[in-house]
Amino acid sequence: MYLTQPLHKALIEAPEKTATVCSGRRHSYREFVSRVARLAAGLKQLGLNEGDRVAILSLNSDRYAEAIYATFWAGGVINPVNIRWSPAEIIYSLDDCDSTFLIVDDTFSPMIIPLMEGSKSLQTVIYAGDGEAPAKTHNFEDLVRDNEEMEDTLRSKDDLAAVMYTGGTTGKPKGVMLSHMNLFSNGLGSQAVANMPIRSVTLHAAPTFHVAGTGLILQAVARHSTNVIIPMFDPKAVLEAIQNEKVIETFLVPTMLRMVLAHPEFGSYDLSGLQHMMYGASPMDSTLLSKARQAMPKAGFLQAYGMTELSPTVTILTKDWHTDEGFESGKMMSAGRPLPMVEIRIVDGEDNTVPNGTRGEIVARGPVVMQGYWNKPEQTAQALRNGWMHTGDAGYMDDDGFVYVVDRIKDMIVTGGENVYSAEVEEAVLQMPQVAQCAVIGVPDEDWGERVHATVVVQEGEDLNLNDLMTHCKSLIANYKIPRSLEVRDELPVSPAGKLLKYKLREEHWSDRDRKVS
Ligand code: ATP
Ligand code: MG
Repeated sequence: MYLTQPLHKALIEAPEKTATVCSGRRHSYREFVSRVARLAAGLKQLGLNEGDRVAILSLNSDRYAEAIYATFWAGGVINPVNIRWSPAEIIYSLDDCDSTFLIVDDTFSPMIIPLMEGSKSLQTVIYAGDGEAPAKTHNFEDLVRDNEEMEDTLRSKDDLAAVMYTGGTTGKPKGVMLSHMNLFSNGLGSQAVANMPIRSVTLHAAPTFHVAGTGLILQAVARHSTNVIIPMFDPKAVLEAIQNEKVIETFLVPTMLRMVLAHPEFGSYDLSGLQHMMYGASPMDSTLLSKARQAMPKAGFLQAYGMTELSPTVTILTKDWHTDEGFESGKMMSAGRPLPMVEIRIVDGEDNTVPNGTRGEIVARGPVVMQGYWNKPEQTAQALRNGWMHTGDAGYMDDDGFVYVVDRIKDMIVTGGENVYSAEVEEAVLQMPQVAQCAVIGVPDEDWGERVHATVVVQEGEDLNLNDLMTHCKSLIANYKIPRSLEVRDELPVSPAGKLLKYKLREEHWSDRDRKVS
């Protein structure tokens, strides 16, 4: 109980409401809860003890959602695995987390043998696919079918619920310990601020292994929503699902939203049911947001800002600021205001609060703050100081309490002694009609230490040269912020969560000796 409590409520309040829709399968909440309680019994019978870690390596699916809840029901801790990791990286994280159980879908079943052979901690593998279970594994559907429903395990608010890995945008992902209270607070806070509907229809397109995906499942189930789950993000599948399942709410990172809008058949879909279009997890540029508002005038945009370490949401920019008025006042480019139980401060290098309007590091306190990094006491002590999570994000606050995320501090460029926030330069570059995508990084420069360098993907059939880029930027940003070099590419490296991997671009310019970010 605790994160599973909404399931007990659903049995009373919405038993016949559809809980999951995935790959042609549909389950009501009555069926969903029964499957969860029987799978939990299967986990117990196979030896799962309270607090044990259950790794999940799978594309998004209804079974993923069932595995999450069954683990909680049995008193275990979920350890969702990044689907892009190599077998060696997965083995490292399984052993690091001491995960004894692993649940794997069809896509990743070829990895089962190497993982079983390589991992020291792994004892039990459950195959959650549609075919024959491979040797030495247990079949998910058999466990659901063959077990009696077990009673829910009592959990307390501070019990560990998940070890979630960070996005790996700036380097090696870190395991983040989140309690039942942490994850519960996220859903509660988001609902309080954004007034999310109960019995909604929620489309899950972002990867479930990422905290934004897991968090959306937990908060949507808590509202007895119908969860429409697609295996992985694909613009056409998103458009089809929104139209065919009459989706009311979804979450997309800006890169995904851009791809949906750019889909050649975008105009032929009926998206009129969409009322809550949540976005976040990486910076949104004003050009893309304007395009999206124009293309989907009724979609009700909502921005969330946060991080894995904050379960993840700490601020929300609500629908009512996604207006022309919100645009003119500048509020629309903020990340909104804190959730009711979250405190946010902007601090300088000595942890002193800076005046409103001044840039510093964003720090947050409240029930969403993680318990710490798994097995990383030093990094925990560095990030969590006096109860405040130091986000590593630069930002400022205005007099009305709106938080503006300027850039990751690690992405800041120091050129000729001046600080340049890469996101601010990208925002300017992206206003050029020729530009489809842009990443700005600092590259080594003999005179300036670092030079502002733009890597750009141009719109189809367009061209771009450095002179035009510099002239355009001159009208928008200070001279020292203007890119001094330009590179045009076919695509930019992105993480599975859809975030720009600037460290990969930087790696090409910095030698090991002088590399700024590892
Ligand atoms: P890693 O910590 O492994 O490098 P990551 O920071 O991308 O990866 P997450 O926890 O998924 O891992 O992402 C949190 C970060 O994403 C924040 O620190 C912030 O930089 C960025 N972010 C999240 N929401 C927003 C937003 N609304 N606007 C701008 N940036 C955002
Ligand atoms: Mg991070």
